Amino acid sequence: MKVVVVVGGVGGARFLLGVKALLGLPPVGPGSSEHSVTAVVNTGDDVWMHGLRICPDLDTCMYTLGGGIDTDRGWGQQGETWVVKEQLAAYGADPSWFGLGDKDIATHLVRSRMLRAGYPLSAVTEALCDRWQPGVRLLPMTDDRVETHVVVDTPEGERKAIHFQEWWVRYRAELPAHSIVPVGADEAAPGPGVLDAVAEADVVLFAPSNPVVSVGTVLAVPGMKDAVRKTDATVVGISPIIGGKPLRGMADACLTAIGVETSAQAVGRYYGSRKCSADGVLDAWLVHTGDTADVPDVAVRAVPLLMTDVDATAEMARAAFEMAGLSV
Ligand code: GDP
Ligand code: CA
Repeated sequence: MKVVVVVGGVGGARFLLGVKALLGLPPVGPGSSEHSVTAVVNTGDDVWMHGLRICPDLDTCMYTLGGGIDTDRGWGQQGETWVVKEQLAAYGADPSWFGLGDKDIATHLVRSRMLRAGYPLSAVTEALCDRWQPGVRLLPMTDDRVETHVVVDTPEGERKAIHFQEWWVRYRAELPAHSIVPVGADEAAPGPGVLDAVAEADVVLFAPSNPVVSVGTVLAVPGMKDAVRKTDATVVGISPIIGGKPLRGMADACLTAIGVETSAQAVGRYYGSRKCSADGVLDAWLVHTGDTADVPDVAVRAVPLLMTDVDATAEMARAAFEMAGLSV
């Protein structure tokens, strides 16, 4: 079976652990199975800082699936030290609000050097994954530069667009957002292998990732939505909203910014039906037990959606496969 999963960072990476487990792959690390998993990863969070290219969602997936993630923080490497960050602060080097661990910096150094030498992000990611062996093909949504920006009113009363990372990490998404824009997406092309993977998939899943700045950004790459709408595979989404709230992070602030209510139903409707709406992408939508959602022309089922451990997450993936008429 060929499985494609559209993912962001923490929510996406955790969901992939469950997909792998369900398919008989060890959740962490490489392994063989008759099945293959391809993750199409959001790169709209990517940013240049201190001359380094940082790809938060790709790295979260790579470290999580490769066994190197700091599981408490959910990002960066375990056993991290912060000497370089302290030294940068001593120089007063901006930005000081972004956590750059020493081990993590090695990843960014290798990536930045390869990018400067002319390698596309997809090739760089493949090279980094040679070390981490995530057991999943991690494809950046695009090799082009796309950076999500958020239009906010600053505490000084100025309206301006800031990088998503600044809004999310520095301001904890507490500055009300007027709009969220994936800058560069209009001119971007899907990364190598992305459209083929969607076209050839047996099932396409939307991880319970942020609907706006993770899955939404992937779908904003021209050609992506079309591919999802045209694939023969069943497209199943998993709600990141449970009981009217996101589970970790501030996805509600993103939904509010684009005028979508924070509920499983509203997110399901925002994705929309492939059959009945002009730009919808879903055939089926999984919500958490106790939640309800009426999404026209989309099959909805309620199952436990808490990724408390790999087994529970594998059961979520199983439910998604069942919605596609597939059993493993
Ligand atoms: P990020 O890029 O690190 O913010 O991660 P993602 O975009 O991949 O995922 C963030 C989303 O994961 C949040 O909106 C959460 O609501 C969702 N999430 C986190 N843990 C769980 C869980 O256990 N179950 C479900 N259904 N969603 C979760
Ligand atoms: Ca992210």
